[in-house]
Amino acid sequence: MSSSQQDACARALERELGDRAQRIPDDLERYAWDFGRIIRRVPAVVVSVHSPEELVTALRIGAEFRMPIATRGSAHSQSGQCLSSGALVVDMKALNDVQIDSERGWGWLHAGATWHQVANAAMAQASMPVGLTLIVDTTVGGTLSVGGLGSESFRTGTQADQILELEVATLDGKLTRCSPEHNRELYDAVRAGVGQCGIIVKARYPLRRAKARLRTHALLYTDRHALITDMLALTAQPRCEFMFSGLMWAEQGGWQLLLMLGSEFDAEAELNDARLLSGLQFKRELGTRDDPQWLSSGTPGHRFFRCYDEQSGGGAHHPWADHLCEPSAAIELLADMLSEPAIAPRVGTSGGLLVVASHANRAPLFLPRVAGPLLLLGVFPEPSSKQLPDALVRMRRHSERGCSLGGKRYVSGFMDGWGASEWSAHFGETWAWFQSMKDRFDPAGLLNNDCIRWR
Ligand SMILES: Cc1cc2nc3c(=O)[nH]c(=O)nc-3n(C[C@H](O)[C@H](O)[C@H](O)COP(=O)(O)OP(=O)(O)OC[C@H]3O[C@@H](n4cnc5c(N)ncnc54)[C@H](O)[C@@H]3O)c2cc1C
Repeated sequence: MSSSQQDACARALERELGDRAQRIPDDLERYAWDFGRIIRRVPAVVVSVHSPEELVTALRIGAEFRMPIATRGSAHSQSGQCLSSGALVVDMKALNDVQIDSERGWGWLHAGATWHQVANAAMAQASMPVGLTLIVDTTVGGTLSVGGLGSESFRTGTQADQILELEVATLDGKLTRCSPEHNRELYDAVRAGVGQCGIIVKARYPLRRAKARLRTHALLYTDRHALITDMLALTAQPRCEFMFSGLMWAEQGGWQLLLMLGSEFDAEAELNDARLLSGLQFKRELGTRDDPQWLSSGTPGHRFFRCYDEQSGGGAHHPWADHLCEPSAAIELLADMLSEPAIAPRVGTSGGLLVVASHANRAPLFLPRVAGPLLLLGVFPEPSSKQLPDALVRMRRHSERGCSLGGKRYVSGFMDGWGASEWSAHFGETWAWFQSMKDRFDPAGLLNNDCIRWR
């Protein structure tokens, strides 16, 4: 697209939306990066939408000028998924109203709200969104567009599986409600759909009752088989509310496998530690802690939910990769990862392991499609600019290994310039259906066009 066309589009946006549209060079540079800090794509204009109507107007004008349109939540993607060169970027963060109805057990969550905002509003009514992600600075629209996983996923599946109903803005200028009962194809095309077919405006999302406090057990494992066996046993018969495994790089070098188990309680008598830990094969318990679920400052009081925003990365590079694998493949990939320490050259949590339960309403674009639970194995290096080329080589090798074991990438991570053949292999039998949805809802290929390569 020529710069005069971009300019004409930006002027049309400024005419209709005033200073919601911005093209100050410093701002554009900020919008050229995501958390990964590996890919830079400078947009032509940014519109910060404050209402569904403003979003529809921005999309209408963008489509009229055949402008590439990128949707941006908190920009926690790591490989440019929310970036597009010369594009109109729709910044969703101001479209963030949250209405909690704990009586009925759901909330209407606007897409630009962070899960932190949602949890704060829900906690005020002693409830929590089901299946909160570990990191809560991401937006509702951002995680529902990739899946959304956390320490409850071993019981609940993905966040995308939970959605009761969505309102979606499409390029034909419509706002459409969709659910398992109505407009099912649109519902399935946007859940874990990386913003390819429409923009999520708001979601009706389930809530659960939240208790005041949380007990956490930190268990040290030395055997990866034992760790994964125990995680799967706790998935088959849950005995606690929260579970994740942190793969820690020790200060003196070497990996430590930690399993964190969490139980919510109001009164201590509700807990049964002996039952929770019985039969588990950990080497030793590192500690037990009781914390408030939520602090008076409005932040999480414990280890299962964390704040980690754009600034927390400190401008370092983050070629992070998560693979979704069946258990036997996860054990092999974990073995590979543990034998290659330099892939994650930083002290502390350098990787993680979660179980994702199979769910009756599984989003079809969340892969792989198997009947049983999946493991998500993540590796989180933070190389300096000097270390980056070497880190990328290692991450490519790790990713090839994960895919060769039948694993699928969690699509928010480092995807390394995938072309149509890699995307087609990733989606497998779902690819043809996804392509047909793309042709139907975005025939000109405008939405998030620098993310998935279709042809
Ligand atoms: C520090 C850190 C911790 C993380 N922890 C977790 C975790 O615990 N669990 C987990 O599941 N993931 C986690 N992730 C990954 C994260 O959930 C994804 O990157 C998610 O997409 C980020 O949401 P966002 O609001 O930042 O979206 P962005 O990065 O802004 O966008 C991601 C993708 O979603 C699309 N998108 C955004 N909003 C919309 C919308 N309203 N409608 C349609 N498409 C949209 C964008 O176009 C883009 O393709 C983590 C990432 C980081 C960097």
